Amino acid sequence: MAINRPKGTEDHLPALSPKLTLDVSAQAHGWLVEKARRVLERAGAQRIDTPLFEEADLVKRGVGGSTDIVRKEMFTVYYFGDHGGYILRPEGTAAIVRAYLQNGLKQLPAPLKLWTHGPMFRAERQQRGRLRQFHQVDYEVLGSTDALVDAEAIALMVGVVRELGLTGVRVKLGSIGDPEDRERYNTYLRELFTPQLERLSDDSKDRLTRNPMRILDSKSASDQELLAELGVKPMLDFLGEEAGAHFRAVQAYLTEWGVDYDIDPSIVRGLDYYRRTAWELHHEGVGAKSALGGGGRYDGLAQELGSKEPIPGIGWAFGVERLLLALEAEGMALPEIAGPLLYVAALDEVNVPHAARTAMSARAHARAEFAYRAMKPAAAFRDAERRGAHWVALLGTDEVTQGTLSLKNIRTGEQRSLAAADLATFLQEHA
Ligand code: AMP
Repeated sequence: MAINRPKGTEDHLPALSPKLTLDVSAQAHGWLVEKARRVLERAGAQRIDTPLFEEADLVKRGVGGSTDIVRKEMFTVYYFGDHGGYILRPEGTAAIVRAYLQNGLKQLPAPLKLWTHGPMFRAERQQRGRLRQFHQVDYEVLGSTDALVDAEAIALMVGVVRELGLTGVRVKLGSIGDPEDRERYNTYLRELFTPQLERLSDDSKDRLTRNPMRILDSKSASDQELLAELGVKPMLDFLGEEAGAHFRAVQAYLTEWGVDYDIDPSIVRGLDYYRRTAWELHHEGVGAKSALGGGGRYDGLAQELGSKEPIPGIGWAFGVERLLLALEAEGMALPEIAGPLLYVAALDEVNVPHAARTAMSARAHARAEFAYRAMKPAAAFRDAERRGAHWVALLGTDEVTQGTLSLKNIRTGEQRSLAAADLATFLQEHA
């Protein structure tokens, strides 16, 4: 029986694959990451890569033991049969902060801007836009509490969206304040919900003791009805003086730079190490419940991971597949196939090695391919065309003995003869 890929995973396919769509096009993934890289590296972000699996404790502390990710969605890595102490990473931030601490990156000039791209793993229930292996572009800034850093991070996310040519994206901005602000808010929520205990979903009863703010995030329809009925005040009403000033400063920078945003009081983050600014980017094409990406400040995370001193941080992640779905919804076509600049075919079997050698030496200057057997001109042109080639060189015995190449431009029909010695210059001129 044929073996299929695991549920919730995707193959990223080459151009011209049957039934190719943008979100599974390997070329589209590469194109998108390259665009993001340019935007981020121009802003001074440096690439960092961490392992795909980490100590289970890092994930539990870094993502939060009470989150769905840790409770239900972690892939445990077993090796030699029985270890089980490693987890496939569900997100990038915890590992990047671990790497920062472990490798002494604090010695680099602060704030340190880092970015990465790669697969993330969550054992989610399968549905549109929700995969078990998906990909993120991730940006993190360590070593500054300045509101300017927050605003820049959001502006960079919008910068990536613009670079991709996406238009229908909305930034939803909120603040979850400082820990003491959240404590006051949680007290308020406990007082509000305790008399309604019986009406809360089981998950939310649990949240009421551990982390009342997460009730606001509940996916249960009856919880959401209750929330509407009670007219719960937003976290924003509980911001202390400093967190309030920080939030206003972030908004002022964004306004000054022409970055549009909507204040969204419903944005919450359940974990203690999150502080102040939190935001999400949304797009109609992927549905209201599925964000393109989100970000937040996490000044308490480094200490949670064992740092003796606080290292402030802020970061965001885009879901690459979600961005591609949004682009598809906006009508973006598949990227054009990038064919070889030169395709060399021999007309006789005896000249096949010469054709191969010609193409291989051309590779110092351009993409070049060759035919693996002798071909008649019509067949060679057809094959070259299917591969998206620009120029075809046909090699007969005359060309080989005279040291020339007969070139034809497949797209324009232009023909010319060239001394083999001039091929490098020709390719450089036409690259
Ligand atoms: P999070 O780390 O949960 O804040 O997710 C950041 C972004 O990653 C989300 O906004 C999505 O775009 C993407 N993402 C998260 N989980 C999944 C998933 N299971 N499948 C596809 N994309 C996801």
